[in-house]
Amino acid sequence: MNQADSAYLINLLRNAGYQETEQLEEAQVIIFNTCSVRQHAEERLFQHLKALSPLKVKKNPIIGLVGCVPALYREKLFGQFPFIDFLAGPESLAEVPLLISRSKEGVKSAVFVSQGTTHFAYHQALKGNLCAFLPIICGCNNFCSYCVVPYVREKEKSRPAEQILAEANEMIRQGIREITLLGQNVNSYRDGEIDFPLILKKVAALPGLLRLGFLTSHPKDISLQLFRVMADSKKIYRHLHLPLQSGSDKILLLMNRRYTINHYLKIIEEARRFIPSLTITSDIIVGFPGETESDFEETLNLIKKVEFDDLFAFKYSDRPKTAAEKLEPKISPQVKEQRLAKLWEVQDAISLRLNQAMVGKESEVLLLSKSYKNPGYLIGKTEKEKKVLVEGPPELVGRLVPVRITSADRQLLYGKPV
Ligand code: SAH
Ligand code: SF4
Repeated sequence: MNQADSAYLINLLRNAGYQETEQLEEAQVIIFNTCSVRQHAEERLFQHLKALSPLKVKKNPIIGLVGCVPALYREKLFGQFPFIDFLAGPESLAEVPLLISRSKEGVKSAVFVSQGTTHFAYHQALKGNLCAFLPIICGCNNFCSYCVVPYVREKEKSRPAEQILAEANEMIRQGIREITLLGQNVNSYRDGEIDFPLILKKVAALPGLLRLGFLTSHPKDISLQLFRVMADSKKIYRHLHLPLQSGSDKILLLMNRRYTINHYLKIIEEARRFIPSLTITSDIIVGFPGETESDFEETLNLIKKVEFDDLFAFKYSDRPKTAAEKLEPKISPQVKEQRLAKLWEVQDAISLRLNQAMVGKESEVLLLSKSYKNPGYLIGKTEKEKKVLVEGPPELVGRLVPVRITSADRQLLYGKPV
């Protein structure tokens, strides 16, 4: 979502006459698009900001902070970092050109309310790109107890289907070949009679689009109809990202996730029944308050049972305003570190084994770019949305090519066009 917002902001500023520079020292305006989902992201931001202080004194660039961190801490940030010129929440990005103009006049300003104008013009695809994110539903109403998102983004709101289809069409016209539909919980998308499986089907039917993905699914709202639509369309990646968070029913309840392990496993079973070759990935939090060794063991057991292709795994961190911030007992940093290391030991072996099982098989790969690290090679994705390094000429970029997988490691597949 953060990347999609950045793309939106870049388009907006280009249209307002601004140009990007690779040289920080040259920039007249510096904008940080921020994420507040974990403490670590915030800490990195504050380090970057502190490092800018000498540049501000020397060259006096306009410095703006946008996205979820300003939405969380608001005007307090002006006190903490006096050289910041403007703040804007994630729903107020459309105001950024105005905020820059005010900063030029020496006025510090902050906007956090939705002006109803953001989330359009995503269709102005960034030049030369083949892939684009397309937000279909903004905000979140779920209040998982660890999560700050519902406090920094607005209430869940589906975008009109007509607008989504028009934007997708415009993206395709400008050369985009892969679209990823985005939302904190895409499964609760609704515009009148049009639910998530239907909007997915409609976007998949657009001529010129080669691949379609979506992020993120919530186990409590996913429907079998989604798997039918996926099974029926060759364009939709055979990939489901379905965050589990924990393998313990006790922890899931404390997290306010509103599903049980049994329910989660049933969804996986159904998904695999419709699409046997499905890639399944997930998000896991280790060290949630009150997580015992045996709760964590349950998570490991579930990882082994499902055999995820890959995971995004995080150490729990307290976030302001959330219910879990007040939950005890907190788990020590050392224990969280140990649990995360153990989790990766288990997952790395599974990921490696699943990747190696692809060797010798043929895949239809969308080639997305040249590999800058490996001259003579291209980077692509298989129909299961797995990354593959393919030997081949740059003319193949943008095309679907049958590829034989010749080898594989933990992170990557390697192949040759058939
Ligand atoms: N809407 C999506 C993603 C939300 S944020 C969903 O419901 O899955 C992405 C991931 O960050 C979450 O799935 C969760 O695993 C992780 N996360 C969120 N808050 C966190 C916190 N306080 N500490 C550690 N990880 C967190
Ligand atoms: Fe956060 Fe839960 Fe909403 Fe995802 S569904 S954004 S984890 S509150």
